Amino acid sequence: MESSDATTQILSKQIMVDGAHVAVLPAVPINHLYEYIVPRDFNFEIGSLVRIPLRNRITTGVIWENSNKKLPIGKVKAVESILKLPSIKEDLRDLVDWVASYTLAERGSILRMILNSSALSNTNKTQKFYNLTTTKPQKMTKAREQVIRALSNGIPKTFSEIHDITKVSSSVVKGLEKIGCLEAVIRPESMQFRTHNAYLKKQNLSVLQSKAAKQLIKLVEQDSFSVTLLEGVTGSGKTEVYFEALSASILAGKQALVLLPEIALSTQWLSRFEDRFGVEPAVWHSEITPKYRGTTWQATAEGNVSIVVGARSALWLPFKNLGLIIVDEEHDPGYKQEEGVIYHARDMAVARGKMENLPVVLASATPSLETLKNVENKRYNHCFIPSRFGAAKLPKIEAIDMRKQSLKKNCWLSEPLQLAVKNTLDRKHQAALFLNRRGYAPLTLCKACGYCIECPNCSTWLVEHRVKNTLNCHHCGYSETRQNQCKNCGETGTLKPCGPGVERLAEEVETLYPSASIEIATSDTMVSPKIAEKILKRIESCEVDIVIGTQVIAKGYNFPMLTLIGVVDADLGLAGADLRAAEHTYHLLNQVSGRAGRSEHEGNVMLQTYMPEHPVMKGLIDGKRSAFLKEEAAARAKNFLPPYGRLIAIIFSGEDEQKVIKTAKLLTSIARSNTKNIPDISILGPAPASLSILRGKYRYRILIKGKDSQRLQPPLKTWLKKIGNTEGVRIQIDVDPHSFL
Ligand code: ADP
Ligand code: ZN
Repeated sequence: MESSDATTQILSKQIMVDGAHVAVLPAVPINHLYEYIVPRDFNFEIGSLVRIPLRNRITTGVIWENSNKKLPIGKVKAVESILKLPSIKEDLRDLVDWVASYTLAERGSILRMILNSSALSNTNKTQKFYNLTTTKPQKMTKAREQVIRALSNGIPKTFSEIHDITKVSSSVVKGLEKIGCLEAVIRPESMQFRTHNAYLKKQNLSVLQSKAAKQLIKLVEQDSFSVTLLEGVTGSGKTEVYFEALSASILAGKQALVLLPEIALSTQWLSRFEDRFGVEPAVWHSEITPKYRGTTWQATAEGNVSIVVGARSALWLPFKNLGLIIVDEEHDPGYKQEEGVIYHARDMAVARGKMENLPVVLASATPSLETLKNVENKRYNHCFIPSRFGAAKLPKIEAIDMRKQSLKKNCWLSEPLQLAVKNTLDRKHQAALFLNRRGYAPLTLCKACGYCIECPNCSTWLVEHRVKNTLNCHHCGYSETRQNQCKNCGETGTLKPCGPGVERLAEEVETLYPSASIEIATSDTMVSPKIAEKILKRIESCEVDIVIGTQVIAKGYNFPMLTLIGVVDADLGLAGADLRAAEHTYHLLNQVSGRAGRSEHEGNVMLQTYMPEHPVMKGLIDGKRSAFLKEEAAARAKNFLPPYGRLIAIIFSGEDEQKVIKTAKLLTSIARSNTKNIPDISILGPAPASLSILRGKYRYRILIKGKDSQRLQPPLKTWLKKIGNTEGVRIQIDVDPHSFL
C-alpha cells in the first residue's frame, strides 16, 4: 500500500492539477471529510470510490459531497485514482452518517464496514475469457469443433468454463488462440450468480401460514418502509413463510437480504433454500474466502445477485436495489457486535429499512422485549403463527427440582434424567444433553493451598480442556499445558477440576450408557463449517445416540429422531449482572427445547434446576410465555431499564490503572455537572468492570441512564470533547449495551 515512490509522485502532481474540489470520507477511524481535487481527466460522481493520499499513505475513501471550501490550489492534494467499482449510493451514505451519530463511532469506521477491505483488495484481479473470431481453422478436429460450438452463442468464456462443457485440454484452446480462431479478452474477475426461481417447489402452506405469508407479500409489494414481527413457535414454519416473501421480492425484480445468527447459517438452512429456489443464495459470513467476498460485494452493488444470506456484517453490503430485509431469530444476542464499531444488527437493519424505504421482517419464536414493545405501541406490524406445522406438537417441558435430588460426587445427571435417557435409547430415539460450558471443567483448584488457576492476562479462571490437555482463557485466548504441580504452593497431584463442562459430562454419560454412541457438539469440536456439517449429518442420520452440546446445537436444526432434551444446568445463565439474563436464559432454553419432537414423535424436555419457581422456569414449563414476559417487563419498567429507558455504557481501559480511573472520574464529573438540572439522566459509576482486567488492561465502566424518549448521544458527545487528552486510555462507547462484563 505504502510506497515512498508513489507518495513523491503524488506530491509533485498535486501542484499542477486542476479540477473539481470534493470532500472525501476516508475509510479509516476518523469523523471528518477531507478536501481533495479530482484531476480534470478523471470520471467521477458523488459516491465514487477513490484512492487518496492521507497522512503519508494511500487510503481508500468515498467522495461524499462537493466541497464548498475550495482550498487554494497548491494547498489541496489530488485524488490519486478513481476505483473501477460501483459508487456508494446516497441512501447508503446517509446510513453511514446516521449510524455514526447513533453509535458515536467515527463515520470512517462505518464506511470501512461498508467497503469491507478484503472485498476491495481483490478488485484488480482479472480473468482471461475467450471469444470466437471470424477466422476458421484450416484443420478441424473433434476437440476444436467442440470448443467452437461451446463459444458459438457469442458469450466469452474462461478456460475452465470451456473445459466444463467440452473436457478439452488447455493446449487445444491455446492452439486455437495461436492460429487466430479465438481471441482473448481480459476482464475483471466477476461472479455471475445464477437466478433464483421464484416458482420452484412452492410448499402447500397451512391456512395459518398462508395468512402470514400473504401479509408479508403485501408489504413487499407495497415497497415502502414497515417493520413486521413474524412470530411463531419453533417449528411453526416461519422459514417457509418468509421464503414466500423472498419469492415475492424476486418477482418484483428486487434484491433481498436475510440475516441469520452466524451459527444458524448451516448447510441445513442453505439446502432448504436451494430446494425452494433452485440455486444457492450468495452467502456472507466470517468463513468465506477473500475471493468470494470480493465478487459477492461487487455483484451485490451491481444488482447481479438477488438474495444474500449472511451474518450481521452482511447488513453493510452495498445493494443496488434492496427491497426487503429479513432478520431471523431477531432476539439472538449474536446480533450485537461487541468489538470495533459496537452496534446491534437488528436495530441497524430497521434503520436501513427506514433510510432506504423498504420493509423489514423480524422473525422469532421468542421475540425480544424491545420488539414486543414496538408491536404493542403499534410501531411494528404483527404476524403470528400459533402452532407447529402438521402433526408435530410442542415438546412437554418439566423441571427436575435438584434440591430434592442427591447426586453422587462428580456426577451431574439426576436419576429421573438418567432414566429418561435410558428409555429414549430403548425406543431407538436420540437424546441431547445441553450444557452451555465448553471444555472439561470451568475451574481448577489446588486441594492443598486453595489456589484457583487464573488467566495471567484477565481477571478470570482458566477452563480445563482435557481433550487438548490445556487450560484456556475463553476471554483472551491464552492457553497453557495442564501441569501436575500447583504454581502457588508447589505441591504435586493436588490440582482438582471443579464443576462440569461438556467433556466431563461425556465421561459420566459413557459410564452410564457404555453402548451408546456419543457426539460432543461445541465450538471446539465444530471447528470449521465442513466438520460441523459432518457432525450434523451424523446426528441427522442417527449414527449418534446421545448428543452433548453447548448453545451451538440450540439453533434452527431439525433432527427428526431427537425426542429427549436434558438441560443439565438450567440456572446457569441466570447468574451475573446482565439485565437481560432472565430473558436470554428463557430464549436459549426455549430454543434448545424447540429441537425436540420436530416430527411425528413427541418430544420431552427436562430442566435440572435449583429454582423451579423462578419465573423463567415457570414460563417454560407452562409453555406460557406471557406470564414470564409480564413479570420481566414490569421489573424493567419499574427501574427504567430497556426497553423502558435508555442506557449507554462507557468502558475505559488501559495498562495504567490510575490513569484509567482518573479519566473515568473526569468524564463522570463533567457529565454530572452538566446534568445537574436534568433529573431524567443519571450517571452511574465509575466502577471496575466485572471483567476488571482483560488482556492485561484494567477496565472501568460508567453507565448513563435516561428515559425512553431521551437521546443520550448528543450530550455524551459534548462531554467527550471536554475531557481532552486521554493518552493511554481507550474509551469504548456501547449504546444500548447487552454485555455488562
Ligand atoms: P420455524 O422456522 O418456525 O422453526 P420451519 O420453517 O423450520 O419452522 O418448519 C419446521 C418444519 O416443518 C420444517 O422441517 C419444514 O420443512 C416443515 N414445514 C413447515 N411448513 C411446511 C409446509 N407448509 N409444508 C411442508 N413442510 C412444512
Ligand atoms: Zn485471559
